[in-house]
Amino acid sequence: DVQSDSQISHLALDIGGTLAKLVYFCGNKKLLKNDEVQSSVKAGGRSRTIIQGKLHFTKFETSKIDECVAFINRKQLGSHHPKDLDNDRIVVKATGGGAFKFADLFKEKLDFCLDKEDEMDCLVAGANFLLKAVNQEAFTYIGGQKEFVQINQDDLYPYLLVNIGSGVSMIKVDGNGKFERVSGTSLGGGTFWGLGKLLTKCNSFDELLELSHQGNNRVVDMLVGDIYGGTDYSKMGLSSTAIASSFGKTISTNKVLENYRTEDLARSLLRMISNNIGQLAYLTALRFGLKRIFFGGFFIRGQSYTMDTISVAVHYWSKGDAQAMFLRHEGFLGALGAFVNYNK
Ligand code: ADP
Repeated sequence: DVQSDSQISHLALDIGGTLAKLVYFCGNKKLLKNDEVQSSVKAGGRSRTIIQGKLHFTKFETSKIDECVAFINRKQLGSHHPKDLDNDRIVVKATGGGAFKFADLFKEKLDFCLDKEDEMDCLVAGANFLLKAVNQEAFTYIGGQKEFVQINQDDLYPYLLVNIGSGVSMIKVDGNGKFERVSGTSLGGGTFWGLGKLLTKCNSFDELLELSHQGNNRVVDMLVGDIYGGTDYSKMGLSSTAIASSFGKTISTNKVLENYRTEDLARSLLRMISNNIGQLAYLTALRFGLKRIFFGGFFIRGQSYTMDTISVAVHYWSKGDAQAMFLRHEGFLGALGAFVNYNK
């Protein structure tokens, strides 16, 4: 009755507007011997079965959902995966709009029944799970330095969860299952990727990020110094290098799009989107008196420039009062939330 290591014993999906995220567990049942039981868990000396294995994370582009289906088909789900006892069909927890959009496809191709879970419920459940169960999950990113934050379980709530996917959701979290989606913006990861693709003709998101690393936004953005003849607007506390108008410099020259380096356009765009989200997040936190802001979503991708810009925006607007924190499993909050729902 032991499952092979490559078989999936539990799978959960989060199929978003841009990416389909998978979280799956591959494991074996292991019978602990008496001495192992005594040294690991107090179980009165009886032998005990535990599940040992690994949680895996992967993603596919939603527009290539067939690749996701083929991947699951190759992996195969073990005989222990939850099933609908009425029809023996495998039941898979799924969230995101794609859980609705692709329900028929999963039924047709894999004979799965997608058990739909609410997207916001899952985001919050995933974030709460990570913040409580995973060591070294949350970190700050200041001046290029990553610093893990020790989460005090008794002092976790309330916090603001900002999920930067294709669009952005801002959720005030007050406890397990206690939350409200208090704000959001359509200027999100989809905007960066979509506009970036048009402006640079990049074929992949990674390529766009790579370009942005090498760019200089000052060629594209209008800075305070451009307006003030190279000096600061010190009365308002604005340094000469502060961005006065994202992309604003492009109107004052005869250059056309082709005359700009794609690296500079990508960098300016990344800065514009990240700055805006950082500022909105802070204003939302201020509105509800929240000090801690956790950022998730696949837009971040552990990118130093993105995290730095968001951190600086939160720090600047809050005058150091609020702090931006990031999550190691940033892109998988929804999928993890659906996964932990197997325990419900
Ligand atoms: P959604 O659930 O809306 O798909 P995600 O949290 O998966 O949201 O984030 C999607 C965003 O992540 C994209 O809009 C893009 O900015 C960014 N992203 C990161 N990696 C990729 C990738 N490999 N392909 C496409 N977008 C990516």
